[in-house]
Formats: sequence, structure tokens, C-alpha cells
Amino acid sequence: MATVYIPTPLRRLTGGQSKVQVAGSTVREVLQNLDAQYPGIGERLFDDQGNIKRFINVFVEDDEIRTLQGLDTPVAENAKISIVPAMAGGASTQGNGRARPVRLTREQLLQQVMAQIKEIDIHKLHTMLQGADTPLVIDIREPHEVERGHIPGAKIIPRGFLELWIDDLAYDPDQPIVIYCAGGVRSALAAKALQDMGYRQVYSLAGGFHAWESAGLPVETPRVFTPEQRERYSRHFILPDVGEEGQAKLLDAKVLLVGGGGLGSPAALYLAAAGVGTLGIIDHDRVDLSNLQRQVLYTTADVGRPKVEVAAERLKALNPDINVVTYREPLYSENALDIIREYDIVINGTDNFPTRYLVNDACVLLRKPLVDASIFMFEGQVTVYQPAIPELGIEGGPCYRCLYPDPPPPGEVPSCAEAGVLGVLPGIIGSIQAVEAIKLILGIGEPLIGRLLMYDALAQEFRVLKVQRNPECPVCGDHPTIRKLIDYEQFCGVPMPRPNGQHTSTPAQV
Ligand SMILES: [Zn+2]
Repeated sequence: MATVYIPTPLRRLTGGQSKVQVAGSTVREVLQNLDAQYPGIGERLFDDQGNIKRFINVFVEDDEIRTLQGLDTPVAENAKISIVPAMAGGASTQGNGRARPVRLTREQLLQQVMAQIKEIDIHKLHTMLQGADTPLVIDIREPHEVERGHIPGAKIIPRGFLELWIDDLAYDPDQPIVIYCAGGVRSALAAKALQDMGYRQVYSLAGGFHAWESAGLPVETPRVFTPEQRERYSRHFILPDVGEEGQAKLLDAKVLLVGGGGLGSPAALYLAAAGVGTLGIIDHDRVDLSNLQRQVLYTTADVGRPKVEVAAERLKALNPDINVVTYREPLYSENALDIIREYDIVINGTDNFPTRYLVNDACVLLRKPLVDASIFMFEGQVTVYQPAIPELGIEGGPCYRCLYPDPPPPGEVPSCAEAGVLGVLPGIIGSIQAVEAIKLILGIGEPLIGRLLMYDALAQEFRVLKVQRNPECPVCGDHPTIRKLIDYEQFCGVPMPRPNGQHTSTPAQV
């Protein structure tokens, strides 16, 4: 069986699956069998002559089939086949070339549409929203109309984007969808459009938002963005999985960066740029000339200044919208819980073992997700340690101690200060940490929980390894023995970095 990778625009036809197993000994057979398994895909791939449409590329492993034997290219067992349609960043509409024979007036069109669509009553929708199987509710009004309030839980998609974004929200053509506008006219036209796209259970809300609001049904008022914010975050607003709702979540989020070094620099810059509303940075160091090879928050003119002071200036200059909280002190057992408690997510950018265990244990005890990373020479690792939170339905994954129950003996693992690190490496890994933090805030995608992402800069390869929670783990296991923070210097057999030149040869941050 070959694995066929399905591009996003076609996933509605595969029930949302991004890859499917298909038999066949040539590309033609595989794609024909794919169409048999998921009817409708064939006509999206082939033109009338049975050739692959010109704006679609098909790859067998790494090679496009036009450079091989076209549709007759043999397909090995376990081959990977990728379907890659052109994506110009816009969308095209394909007309059917047939002119409408009669010109309709606005009233005639509406009459025709109303006869073809289904409407739903506001009270019926209200009852449905209390139940278990709630429909997907879409508000298609213009942004200035939505500012005054919307139906709770509704997805806000301006009418002009509806057909372009709907695939991302509803894969299943039988998913019940309720569309509303202000009075029920635009939503009727929109319902017709979705019906024409193959959605079978689309309803237009009769009377629209006016009827809903007048009946005294619950209304949610969204955050109002300033014109400056609208422009600054415009590329987020148009992303279906972010939008205004997501940007509001980012602005409300609080992320703590442990270490303003190589990993903390890119993570902080991208989180600030994204509009993560509160960034905490804990770092007791001053900027050193040897930091500048990788710590992109700082410039040559900053050498000698406290890192957190420079970082706050730089991040506020990038985005005055955000609040930067600085801690010019090391993280110890005495202050860790009080500091971390204030944040939603922690990003770890430390490279000494005592702090690593300390941050892990504090995050497990406070049940905060920890976006952990480490780098060494040309290699990096990233993962997310998410403690289980049963009352929120969060299953969680392993913690640092599940993977590494004991620290290495002192001196066994050289630090970056001793073995070196490629300057750009923390730029890549720290940016991935920022991506993971943003995904956690937005609740989108698949966070790296239970997965360890390995990056090898020399091979230019990413690999993902599965990691599991250890039921015997002393801090997050079924019968934890560590219920408060311990003495981590003693546990690791090495001192923690101290401020004012008292620290050891290992810097606190890579
Ligand atoms: Zn654990």
C-alpha cells in the first residue's frame, strides 16, 4: 500500500485525513483507487483527457512524476505519494462557462434562494446550543457589525471569506451548520453557497442577529481592537484558526521565559511580535560580547547591561501593545512557585541541570505546560511537558523526570560553553518553542506533548520520537514522592548559577 498525502483543499473528501493508504502498482492505479475510496477526488485531479491537471503536481517520494514516467510511474510498496496543488496565497473560482439565460432582480433571486434553503428559528437554535451536539454557528457579518456582540460560540467569518475558509471548519458534508447575518438575507445567500459546495445540513437563522438580540437571548461582546491593532495583527486576523478570537486569546496570555539567552531571544521576539500580552523574562545575567553570536535580543552597544533591562526595551519597541515583566534574579526553589504561578505557559531556555529539574517540578506542581528545549553543538530538541488536568479534560503527557529520572553525574555532559553551539541553532529551536506556546494558547494543532522533536542541523533533518509518561515518576507519576520543591544543587551535585560573577563556568542560559 502506498501512503498518499492529501493537501488541505482536498481533505474534505477524505474526511479530514491528511494521509491515506491506497493500493496500486502505478501512479495512475493509485489515484484511480484513491478516487474509488474517496469519490470526487478524481475530478479534482484529472482533466477531461485523463491527464493530471496542470496546476497540480504529484510526487512519488521526492520526485515529481512528470520527471519520471508520468502516470505510468511505477509505485513501490510503502511508497509516499504527495499531491501538491498550486497555492498562490489567493483563491481562484472556476466558472462553468454557462451564462445565466435570464437576468434576475434582487427580489427574484431572494425568492429563488429562499425556496432552496432551510431556515432555523432563533429559539430552536438556542435550544440546540444547550445540547450535546451543537451545530457549527457562523456569523458572516462585517467586522464593524460584530463589534457590538455576537451569538456565544459563533465563528466569525466575514461573508467574503466563507467559501474559502469553510473547509477548515467543516470537513464533514453532514455537519450541521447555522449561518446568520443581521436580518437573515445575506445568510440565506451564504447558505445557498454552502449548499452548492455539497454541505447538506445548512440553515440560515431566520431574522438574524437582530431577532436573537431582541428576544433577549445571550450575546457575547468581543474584544474591540484599535485600528492600530487591526493593522498590526491583520495577518493573524485573516488566518481561520487565529482570527480576532485567537488574537484576543494571545493578548490575554501570559508566558514566562526562563532565560533571556539563545533560546529565549527568538522565542521572546516572536511572542512579542505575535501580541502575546504579558511576557515574563527571568535572567540575572548581563550582556556579554560572547552572547551576541546567537542571542539576537542584544546588540554590541548593550554589552555590560542587564539582559532583562535590554530585553524589555527591545520587546516594547517591537510591540508597545505588550507588557514585559522582568526578574533580574536566578530561579531558586524559594521563588520559583511564586513567579511561575502568575503565568499560563513556561518556556525553558536554561542549560544547567539544577534549573531544568527545578522548572520541571514547579510546572508539574502548578500544573503549567512547559515548552522545553535544549541545544548542543549542531543539534536541538524540543518537547512540551503538559501535566494532566483531569477536570479540564487535559490528559497530559510525560515530564522531564519521566524521561530523565536522574541528572547526569557532574561533568559528564559538557555545556554549550564548553562544547560550543552553532549560533543559528537556538534561533530555529527557540522559534519552534514560540510556535508551540502559541498553539497552546490558541488551542490549535497538535502540540508536541508526548513527542520529542529532534533537529540535526548538519543532516538538515527533523525526527519525532514518542515519549511516554512514567507511572513511577517521582513527581508526575501515580504515587508521587516529590510534593514540594527540593534542593536541586544537592540533587544534581552541581551549584546553580549565581549573579554578580559568582556563577560557575556554566552560564545560566545558552
Ligand atoms: Zn514525570
